This record gives sequence, structure tokens and C-alpha cells, in this order.
Amino acid sequence: MPGLQLRSVSKAFKGVAVLEAINLDLAPREFIAFLGPSGSGKTTLLRIIAGLETADAGEVVLDDRRIDQLAPGARDVAMVFQSYALYPHMSVRENMAFGLRNARVPQGEIDTLIADAAKVLEIEPLLERTPAQLSGGQRQRVAIGRAIVKKPRLFLLDEPLSNLDAALRLRTRVELAQLRKRVDAGVIMVTHDQAEAMTLADRIVVFNDRRIQQVAAPMEIYLRPANRFVAQFVGSPA
Ligand code: ADP
Repeated sequence: MPGLQLRSVSKAFKGVAVLEAINLDLAPREFIAFLGPSGSGKTTLLRIIAGLETADAGEVVLDDRRIDQLAPGARDVAMVFQSYALYPHMSVRENMAFGLRNARVPQGEIDTLIADAAKVLEIEPLLERTPAQLSGGQRQRVAIGRAIVKKPRLFLLDEPLSNLDAALRLRTRVELAQLRKRVDAGVIMVTHDQAEAMTLADRIVVFNDRRIQQVAAPMEIYLRPANRFVAQFVGSPA
């Protein structure tokens, strides 16, 4: 089965359970939002999929391949961090090339991948700058660009808009929606912002209390919340 499957994924930190037997199926090219209060395990699950954290139990399968034992770089996923995590001493171009060099992609191909991504994200004039010479919104685009050049099967976005001011957040939200049509990959976006999840996602996964509370399309979640927690969290009509 193509897409992503999480099978009975569990995780505890120092004996305290954070995720319990999480099961989830993501279709190829689906845009999923992980929504829930702070501390509900959203980022931990994203990091488990990315390979930055190891699950205590369970399986992660991407396009029919078990990836939970693979190194992060071998998983066909690309993560965009909340802090952007750009290398400060490198130019934008070098930041975008870094992962590709490590994967021994030929230089000609690296140049083409960067040129294509820079065009899509409209960051061509910024390629020779360093992160310190960029605005927050520009840094955010570069972080997305660094993920795009890897041509992943799955993008993992950790609160990608949370460091932007309100106006820029709205604009970037629109751009993310457009971008998503141009990349042949699934997206999982962690957010605690309900409006963000509602406008961008095909389906929303609501987390609370170590478990998934509901998985459904935005309107379904809003109009037919599975339980009282979901109803209160998304502010469903009573
Ligand atoms: P969310 O992304 O929903 O805000 P997180 O996945 O970041 O939640 O965190 C879930 C819980 O796991 C929190 O209680 C957090 O303190 C704890 N946690 C996350 N990472 C670690 C870690 N590396 N060590 C110990 N506890 C952690």
C-alpha cells in the first residue's frame, strides 16, 4: 500500500507514556495536520517518522517500505523545523546544497534542483546571502527550499508558521497551499493553530492524552466531533 502507515507506535520518556499505540494511514499526496494542545505528542510523532526519535514499539511504513530502522537520511522524508535550523555561516545556496552533497548528488544536478526550488519559492535573489541577511519569512522559505530539493515522498513541517507575524503567516499559508499542488509528496504539518489546520489540511488528526482522538476532514471534525475534548478544542457549535 503506498503512502504512510503508522502501526501501533508507542513512546515514553523516562517511563512516562507520551504516545500509546498510535495507528494512522496517510494516502500519497495527502496533506495532514497534527492538531492538539501543547505536550500532546505531535512533535514527538513527527520526529519518530523523521527518524530523529526512536519509538519504543510499532512500525513506520512509507510506500511499502519499513523505515523505522533506517537512518533519517535514508527515509525519503524531509523535515522543516520550527526554528528553520539553517547553518548561519553558509549561504542560502550552500544551505540548500548541503544535504544533497552528503547524499553524493552530482554538482550539475544540485544546481538544477536548487534553481528549480528557488524559482518555485521566489528566492532566486537570495541565494548568495547568509541567513542573517534574511527576514523571518525569507528564512522560512529557504527552510522549505532545503526540504524541496531532496524530492522527498513526505514533508514533515513542525509548526512552520509559528515564528511569523500575523500578516506573513496568512500569506505563507496561502503559499503553502499553492506549493502543495506543485510537489508530488504528502505533507504532515504539526500545529496548535486550528485555523491553519482547517484551511490547509485534507484531514486533521486531533491528539490529546497520548492518543489520537479523531481523524477526519476539517468540516467533519468541526461539525461531528468524536468526543467532548475534540468539540471543545475546535470550538464546535453545541
Ligand atoms: P507537542 O508537539 O504536542 O507539543 P511533544 O511531542 O513536543 O508535544 O511533547 C510531548 C511530551 O513529551 C511533553 O510532555 C514533553 O515534555 C515530552 N517530551 C518531548 N520530548 C522529550 C524528550 N526528548 N525528553 C523528555 N521528554 C520529552
